[in-house]
Parts: sequence; structure tokens; C-alpha cells
Amino acid sequence: MINKILVANRGEIAIRVMRAARESGIATVAVYSEADKDSLFVKYGDEAYCIGPASARESYLNIPSIIKVAKTFGADAIHPGYGFLAENADFARVCEKEGIIFIGPSSQALELVGNKTHAREAAQAAGVPVVPGINQCSDLAEIEIEVEKIGYPVIIKPSDGGGGIGMQVVNRKNELKRSLEMSSTIASRAFGKGDVYIEKYLQHPRHIEVQVLADCHGNVVHLCERECSIQRMHNKLVEEAPSPIVTPEIRAEMGRMAVDFARKIDYRGAGTVEFIYCEERFYFIEMNARVQVEHTVTEMVTGVDIIKEQLRIASGLPLSIAQEEVKINGWSIECRINAEDPFNNFAPSPGALKAYRSPGGIGIRVDSGVYNGFVISPYYHPMISKLIAWGRDRDEVIARMKRALYEYIIVGVKTNIILHKAIMENPRFVSGDLYTDFLSLEKDLTQDMLQIQERDRASVERLKETFKFIS
Ligand code: ADP
Repeated sequence: MINKILVANRGEIAIRVMRAARESGIATVAVYSEADKDSLFVKYGDEAYCIGPASARESYLNIPSIIKVAKTFGADAIHPGYGFLAENADFARVCEKEGIIFIGPSSQALELVGNKTHAREAAQAAGVPVVPGINQCSDLAEIEIEVEKIGYPVIIKPSDGGGGIGMQVVNRKNELKRSLEMSSTIASRAFGKGDVYIEKYLQHPRHIEVQVLADCHGNVVHLCERECSIQRMHNKLVEEAPSPIVTPEIRAEMGRMAVDFARKIDYRGAGTVEFIYCEERFYFIEMNARVQVEHTVTEMVTGVDIIKEQLRIASGLPLSIAQEEVKINGWSIECRINAEDPFNNFAPSPGALKAYRSPGGIGIRVDSGVYNGFVISPYYHPMISKLIAWGRDRDEVIARMKRALYEYIIVGVKTNIILHKAIMENPRFVSGDLYTDFLSLEKDLTQDMLQIQERDRASVERLKETFKFIS
């Protein structure tokens, strides 16, 4: 059994993990950078230790410091959250060597899925369809011939990458060489390895992923799908469960494939098998070997606490649910609320929250690490919160999300709330016609945002009147 967990992360996900630990009767240790000393998660942990300056490299990515705190203060397990060290096989290996439980998959599984070409090969071996592509990119002349066979456009992706970084879409032959070089250079800089691979670039696909849980007793279940097609620069912005397009038959098939893949690679823990869906076919793109930002929508419709399942698995216990017990109840949507300027290319907008009140009421969940007066730091991703709504059906959850966005008061920084309002009112979104380039193709969104801002100005100002702003 686990007695004390060190949470090697910050912000909302650190609090999310600490909440699950508290409910499970497990103590927690927060570690934080100097820039985060006033953060809520630091106070939420039973103990908290500073591990370095603001730079993530010297704090949240500082393996020796984190291990030292765990050993000195008796943490027998480490939860890495998402991002930072969550999918770092070296970190998992150090934990294994030091006798600390890494709350996640084994270092071998992390290594395998961390390399996307290896993951593609494993998917193929498990009978899971992958996007047509080229795994080995060395000789240009050969690549050109192979790409001709697949047909343009194609997308070049870093093999060891993530977060959409370094991906290049290539529309014609004369762009191939330059794009390969560019992707490889960006990959070397960002991930320390310049290897890239190529996939057919599918037109207007949907991003649909399946949540899986696997314990060390041979039980593997899936918690159905999430749709994450609303993206900006290949990064998710709005997620929902279930997907408007997935039928019970497709759900069963995708679920079975995700479970087969997890079994094939001997996976343990919570993970997500990601697919893109195009012209009624779906293709594996990668596995995320960690809890994801958007795990919340799955929790809302299945009632399963995914973090608590992670804790059970890491403690050597069997999963608390069997596949036949997994049922979808209603619909859930998550909006990622960021401090960024929607009218200036979404530039980060760090600063103090001079007034802050999050929405509430029936069917609303806010996962956040901020409070009134909190300062959004320029050093990290400017997420303010994850606003999650639940409704009995898609219409109800959209209406509820619109209502919650109207109630949200954030003064002092610019936010993307107005974009979320425009998405929730967009007829295409409402009809469930989603695709990953939705935001770049909906040309009138800026106009919609301006109109909604004007329309809601008076009511938003009325809500703000109740606040004494912190100066
Ligand atoms: P990352 O791990 O960097 O986020 P992914 O492989 O998960 O990269 O892809 C991220 C997003 O990029 C997908 O959700 C989708 O929007 C887009 N994408 C990825 N591969 C393709 C493809 N072959 N065709 C079209 N879009 C793609």
C-alpha cells in the first residue's frame, strides 16, 4: 500500500491528484518552484518543499531534486501528473531503481510508446489500423518515391515528440526536403532527438481517443471515447464525452482495439489510445501513457475516478470496475480556460487575477489551482482552469456550458472565454459536425466573438459590480 505520494507537478493537476489521495487516506507532498510559492497546490499538500528556481528545467524537470525530496521525507510513490516528467522513461527507471513507486506505466512501456514509430509498429502487430505512412526517414530519394505512393498531402512528425511541436504538413514534392529538415531541427531542439516519420495528412479528420485502465492482475478495461476535435495549432481546446459521431458498434470496436493494444504492450496504469477518424474509418496515431488533461469528461459520464484507479493500480490492487459495469450516463464537455488574448493571436496574458469567481450550480465542475488575487505566472502554460459541464444530453450540456461561461468572472488578465462562448453558439459545433481544423476554417469566429462580447457586455458588467477589485 502507498502511504505518502510526492506530486511532481503543479497547478490544477497537482490538486486533482491530492484530492484523490486525500479521499484514499494517503498523505501528499507538494514540490514547487520559487515562482509557485504562493500557489494553492503548495498549501493543499500535507507537506511542501521548494525544489528550485522558476525554470522548469531546474525545478519540475529536476529528477535528482525530486527524488531527494521523496527519499528524505518518506514518500513511497510519485505521481507525475501530465507534462513535465509524466512520460519520461528515465525518470520512471530512476524511481524503479530507488524503490519508489512511479504512478504510471513501467519504464519499458514508456519507452515503447514514447517513440511513435515503435508505437505504430506495435499497433500494427496488435491488428490496430494505423494511418498509411513511412516509419524510416533516411534517404530523400526513397522517401519521395514512398510519399508519391501514399499521395500528398502528408504530415511529418517528430518520432519522440508531443504537443504538436515540429509537425509539418507537406503539400507538394518540392516542399518535402525543407520540411523534413525543419521538423528534424525542431525535434532535436525540443526533444533531444531529430528522428521524424511521415503519415498521410487526412483531410478534416476528427480526433477521437479511448481511455484505458490496466492493472497488474491482467484486467484491462476501456472507459469509452472522448472527442477532442476542437483544437488550436494541433492542441486540444474543447473536449467531450461521448463523441457525437460514435455509435455503440464503433465504440465497441474502438474500445476493443484500445484494449488489445494495451495488452499487446503489457501496459499498466491509465492511458489513452488516440485515433483519428476520417470517412468512417479510424486510425491509431499514438498512445499517451499518462492521465490526460481531458480525463475529467470521462469521469463525468462514467462516474469512475481515474486518478483513484491509478492509485489502486500502483498499490497492486485490481481495478474497481469490470468492463460490463462501464456505462455512459449523459454528456460532458470541458473548456480549457487560458489566460491568453483571443484578439491577439492568443498571446499569453499572465498577471494578477484582480477579481475571480468561478461558476457553480448543477452539473458544473471547475478543476483549477487559482484563487482571487493569484498571479498567473509567465513561466508556465497560462491555464486558469478546466471548466467541465455535465448534462443528460448534448443539448443540455451545451446550454449549461454557455450558462457557466456567462457566470465566469475573471478580471486582470485576458482570457479565451469569449472564444468558448462563440464555439458553444456555433451552429456547426451545436450540430456535432466537428473536425480538427474547425477553428482555422470557421472564418467568422472573430466576428462572432466581437458580437457576443457586445451583446453580453451589460450583463457581464452587472455581475462584476459585486466585486471589490484587488489593486
Ligand atoms: P502530438 O503528440 O504532438 O500532439 P499527435 O500525433 O497526437 O501529435 O497529433 C496531434 C493532432 O495533429 C491530432 O489530434 C490531429 O489534429 C493532427 N494530426 C495528427 N496526425 C494527423 C494526420 N495524419 N492527418 C491529419 N491530422 C493529423
